[in-house]
Amino acid sequence: MSKNVYQFIDVKRIDPPKKAIEQRKINFVEIYQPLGTDQSAGQADRCLDCGNPYCEWQCPVHNYIPQWLELVTEGKIFEAADLCHQTNSLPEMCGRVCPQDRLCESACTLNEDFGAVTIGNIEKYITDTAFAQGWKPDLSDVVKVNKRVAVIGAGPAGLSCADVLTRNGIDAVVYDKHAQIGGLLTFGIPSFKLEKDVIQTRREIFEGMGIEFRLNVNVGVDITIDSLSEEYDAVFLALGTYTDMTGGFEHEGAAGVYTALDFLIGNTQNLMKITENAKPFVSFENKKVIVLGGGDTAMDCVRTSIRQSATEVTCAYRRDEANMPGSPREVQNAKEEGVNFQFNIQPLDIAIDKDGKACGVKFVKTQLGVADAKGRRSPEPIAGSEFIMEADAVVIAFGFLPSPPQWMKDAGVEIDKRGLVLAADNSEFALQTTKQNIFAGGDMVLGSDLVVTAVDQGRKAAIGILDFVLS
Ligand code: FAD
Ligand code: SF4
Repeated sequence: MSKNVYQFIDVKRIDPPKKAIEQRKINFVEIYQPLGTDQSAGQADRCLDCGNPYCEWQCPVHNYIPQWLELVTEGKIFEAADLCHQTNSLPEMCGRVCPQDRLCESACTLNEDFGAVTIGNIEKYITDTAFAQGWKPDLSDVVKVNKRVAVIGAGPAGLSCADVLTRNGIDAVVYDKHAQIGGLLTFGIPSFKLEKDVIQTRREIFEGMGIEFRLNVNVGVDITIDSLSEEYDAVFLALGTYTDMTGGFEHEGAAGVYTALDFLIGNTQNLMKITENAKPFVSFENKKVIVLGGGDTAMDCVRTSIRQSATEVTCAYRRDEANMPGSPREVQNAKEEGVNFQFNIQPLDIAIDKDGKACGVKFVKTQLGVADAKGRRSPEPIAGSEFIMEADAVVIAFGFLPSPPQWMKDAGVEIDKRGLVLAADNSEFALQTTKQNIFAGGDMVLGSDLVVTAVDQGRKAAIGILDFVLS
């Protein structure tokens, strides 16, 4: 039977159903139900198979989206999983956490008038289904080249680099200071967006491919970069960015003020029952909480606070909703879960009580001025409009700055004035640093960004490393 070319009109876009709001507000589990087989095939069949698919180009790893959508309509899940893995080392994670409304789905031809194809959820469906049915990567053609590479950091960049190296016959040994792989996938991104057993499944797949993990090893403390440089043919650095940006407020150090990463990591480690080298667990149960910032990390903090049974959670942002940097999908999820949003207010300082403890935030109201380089209108304080909003706890979620360790610089790896490692993906050996045998990628090169861009960097660095060690 010939394909119904008007499927995209007859079949409406559907997003996977969300769990009941009462459950969502108390559970740290993914909020979306999976799409079923028929739903996924029906949604995949909405794809127009555009001659020059914009979705592919808007996807940072340039996934072969129309091709794997077609395989889904034909029920060929293992073939679709093979194809997903040709361009993406962590498709099950990207399907869950990519801001598709800014990436692939924003570029879908159907987006404006009919609703984009639900690309991310089908990517998740393909990989989850294939894994459940026992899919494994086929490495039968791989010829070992007798080279070894040390990967430092088991976040998405390091894991993706190790994946591509292994598929090209290189032995990859991944070091991480934590006892679990995943980096921010494990400790930063809350489990209501990405459950942690997804990462465990991925670990089993990677170990099955022969990737070795040496965990609980803090490079620069337990082992030196020089000894790794000596032992391996090349080294890949993927350490991430871990310095919280501050507001510069006079009372920022007061008790009751927390940084986003410490709060989120402490919460996840508590849920995972990790106690060794763990961040302190902070509970906002029965507390009135203000989260400062309007990005995706702020959304993770407000939604975590709700699940911890805070009495009231407010997100305070200095522009309006249209000018928020975060994904509209996450803002909507936060609203549904009961977060109160206050726009056009800029924090001036933390208000403290007589014991020096935070008891609120002093704000000034703002109006929006001209657009900045990124197109976002800048907030201008309105004189005389200062006020204090009461709170028991304040979380600062203003983003992250690079955190390059001294040992890296001592090893000859240059950084720029912002603290980012100098490594270009279009140099002779992609993502080579100023030290010949050392490569770098992910957030420490790009600045705090996305899982999928870290995946892309790890994969590109692996090609650069291959070219280098085989040259
Ligand atoms: P990381 O994931 O940070 O991994 C770095 C690894 O290096 C860590 O495992 C660390 O332990 C290890 N390491 C560091 N120093 C050493 C050392 N000396 N020795 C050994 N190991 C070391 N992106 C999205 O696409 N979607 C989201 O929904 C999303 N949500 C986010 C929520 C939060 C709260 C945060 C903070 C980030 C979020 N991001 C999201 C961004 C995304 O997680 C990062 O861009 C991505 O993880 C960066 O990958 P990476 O591999 O460069 O670094
Ligand atoms: Fe879309 Fe991300 Fe998947 Fe690319 S990796 S197709 S951007 S969900």
